[in-house]
Amino acid sequence: MKFVGAHVSAAGGVENVPKRAHKIGAKAFALFTKNQRQWEGPPLTTENIDGFKKNCEKYGYSMDHVMPHDSYLINLGHPEQPKLEKSRNAFLDEMQRCEQLGITLLNFHPGHHLNKLDVDVCLQRNAESINWALDRTEGVTAVIENTAGQGTATGFKFEHLAAIIDGVEDKSRVGVCIDTCHAYAAGYDLSTKDGYEEMFNKFESAVGFKYLKGLHLNDSKKALGSRVDRHDNIGEGLIGPLGFELIMQDQRLDDIPMILETPNTERWPREIEMLYDMAEME
Ligand SMILES: [Zn+2]
Ligand SMILES: [Zn+2]
Repeated sequence: MKFVGAHVSAAGGVENVPKRAHKIGAKAFALFTKNQRQWEGPPLTTENIDGFKKNCEKYGYSMDHVMPHDSYLINLGHPEQPKLEKSRNAFLDEMQRCEQLGITLLNFHPGHHLNKLDVDVCLQRNAESINWALDRTEGVTAVIENTAGQGTATGFKFEHLAAIIDGVEDKSRVGVCIDTCHAYAAGYDLSTKDGYEEMFNKFESAVGFKYLKGLHLNDSKKALGSRVDRHDNIGEGLIGPLGFELIMQDQRLDDIPMILETPNTERWPREIEMLYDMAEME
């Protein structure tokens, strides 16, 4: 069974998210547990925490299908020590917020090397940061997202994700999320049947489906291999409908959160419905 949803606004408090997700027909959702553009946010209140848990139950969301995203400011592979520490502390705070809310997955992008570290060293540093945060928390899995490879981002090859996992001590608490737009921009052509199969064969041999904890479903405005990250609405970008039909009919992708981060949020109810229709197609 597929669990499609979207990255829903947490305006007014995280407790409002489950109802918003329910309203658009989502069976899964993503959220920010604090303002994603600031280093610090106010701590969660009892009202936030209890309200969130109560509403997840009320609207039938299992924690397997809730996958928050961390702040965009965090760089767990930062070349400079003080800034690395700042990022680690902010990441730990994000993990602790998940612990408080009963959330078991936290999605984030691997850090940038900023042309000051070799890619391998930067990947290793990302792994050390994850180890550091996992040591200080319980029950939350660190979910590494593939990137488009824009600028000095690491994580645009499946081998990068594998290298980070390799450096993580507790393999039971690390996973990955594949963003379809990022994959396409990084050169994985999931727009055709052959390209789709090749991409997931590469994924299985480099990383393995057992680590796959979620997907971000986005079409791409930018060309295959462009390494530029611009999301488009489903079926309207360069991936096109076929790539998403293949995803929706792929049983290896059952039971994980599939999250829309497409630009036109008003279309989410229709996009979710369209994706479920694709799952039913023969
Ligand atoms: Zn994404
Ligand atoms: Zn993106």
